[in-house]
Amino acid sequence: MKPTDTSDPDYFHKVVDCQWACPAHTNVPEYIRLIAQGRYTDAYLLNRESNVFPGILGRVCDRPCEPACRRARVEDKPVAICRLKRVAADLSDEVADQLPRRPAQGNGKRVALIGAGCASLTVANDLLPLGYEVVIYEKLGETGGLMRSNIPRFRLPPEILDTEINAIVEMGAELRLNAPVESLKGLLDEGFDAVFVGTGAPHGKNLELPGRYDTDRIHIGIAWLESVAFQHIESIGEKVLIIGGGNTAMDCCRSSLRLGGKDVKVMARKPRHLLKASDWELEDAEEEQVELLLNHSPEEFIVEDGRLTGMKFARVEWHDDGSGRLKAKTLDHVVIPCDDVILAIGQENAFPWIERDMGIEFDEWNVPVVDKNTFESTRPGVFFGGDSAFGPKNIIWAVEHGHQAAISIHKYCQGESMTERLPYGMNLASTKMSIHEWSYSNDFDPAERRLMPHVSLKERFKNLDIEVELGFSYEQTLTEVERCLNCDIQTVFAAKLCIECDACIDICPVDCLTITQNGAEQELRTRLSAPAENTSQDLYVSEDLPHTGRVMVKDENLCVHCGLCAERCPTAAWDMQKSELIIPYATDEAQCPKEQKAG
Ligand code: SF4
Ligand code: SF4
Repeated sequence: MKPTDTSDPDYFHKVVDCQWACPAHTNVPEYIRLIAQGRYTDAYLLNRESNVFPGILGRVCDRPCEPACRRARVEDKPVAICRLKRVAADLSDEVADQLPRRPAQGNGKRVALIGAGCASLTVANDLLPLGYEVVIYEKLGETGGLMRSNIPRFRLPPEILDTEINAIVEMGAELRLNAPVESLKGLLDEGFDAVFVGTGAPHGKNLELPGRYDTDRIHIGIAWLESVAFQHIESIGEKVLIIGGGNTAMDCCRSSLRLGGKDVKVMARKPRHLLKASDWELEDAEEEQVELLLNHSPEEFIVEDGRLTGMKFARVEWHDDGSGRLKAKTLDHVVIPCDDVILAIGQENAFPWIERDMGIEFDEWNVPVVDKNTFESTRPGVFFGGDSAFGPKNIIWAVEHGHQAAISIHKYCQGESMTERLPYGMNLASTKMSIHEWSYSNDFDPAERRLMPHVSLKERFKNLDIEVELGFSYEQTLTEVERCLNCDIQTVFAAKLCIECDACIDICPVDCLTITQNGAEQELRTRLSAPAENTSQDLYVSEDLPHTGRVMVKDENLCVHCGLCAERCPTAAWDMQKSELIIPYATDEAQCPKEQKAG
């Protein structure tokens, strides 16, 4: 193998598995260390650089970082990253006065943002400090988009939404509520320099089965959740069936229980491991006694004398059809009685307000054609992001889309090339304090993941507003922060200093170091101190060592960043260095001199 190029920012970034997996690349280990030091406001502000809604996402993030967490390779459970994010948000001081504002002197450019959800608000957050005049159009009477209308209050209290959203609006955006955009052409005629569409995927999918229109007790999940959120619906029948197996289905079943549902069942076509809902959301629903019926394929709504009485399902089993696709085989049929059915089988975007003759191309599914890097549509100056660009994903993806779209909008408005963007950077700094001391806590803490305390089952159903998760206590926080393995503290190796004494290899507790003859990666992986079977994780390969020409190989999959190799090395060939990923945002693009960009 060629010597590893550690000057490529991606190399060390990838070792920080949580940050790499987070769509917004939030600097997780650093904010966990700040929480450990009791610096909650600093942790919040660091978080907010990439993820503009730490309090919201500390409660409801899809947490792509957690399955990636290195801790889960040492023991069962990852660090409770998301819960710690909430700790920083809950204990942070007021930060509004520490956020940038729109300068008194604007830059003369006007940008319209359609929809007041997470993607548009991120664009506003990034463009306002640059002097843009930002006008946000929202069809509802409140901000937040699907974060407010579709996530129940018992998971995400409105005060949390208000605090984080108002902090952005108060930077100087003009917010127009109850202002649906009826015509994109009309909006463009108002002379905006650019338009960003962040309208989400607001249409719930229907299920056109017999009986669908013979009753008014069949509801579309996301529309129903919106009606609940805005208190247009305050009750439901005792027997409720939710069709679908994603997170919306979990929000529907738990909301039903709070509105009078006594016998609430989630009906899923697929087996449990193929359900889209996050594990923790399924567990929370089951804790509340929601019954989960798997492998039930809906066939018919049973309506008798105009009254919905039940629903017919085929019970199926799944098998591979030989081409890797799953095929269902019907075993028998069952009718499940119900008073109401809620359809939570997916959602899609819809743009009846975009004229089809204005240069915005739509694909065969009626989704706008959007450049994946610049987020620009086929009409110059019109950008899309969040669910409205590429279909439903999650909040943190929409935030990242917002950051990237803001860069594009800024470059577009300034007449710069949108494809020439600042690259990621990386700072490395030694954490060495003395021979056996580092500026981070490197002792392995064997503690298990702390469990989130919940409001008692008796209490939580009293109304829709009782937040079920209580947040970590001080003691839980203290323990959980120590479970982080500090994956951003990198083992940096200087081959020319190595005398091949093997001391680091002897001391490494997880056998991730080997000095050996170089070879092809596949073969090299088999003859390390411990075979490196996880090919998604890199091998580090040094330059040839000065004495024997062999190489130092490190399996990045295993390292727990304990620093013992660096403590033991007599020549300081190993050092523990903190890596900091430098992520460019719209302000960086604005402040970077043109010559530097060209270079
Ligand atoms: S820091 Fe060094 S000793 Fe510790 S696990 Fe990583 S390679 Fe091994
Ligand atoms: S302890 Fe230092 S000198 Fe000895 S083999 Fe390891 S890196 Fe080389």
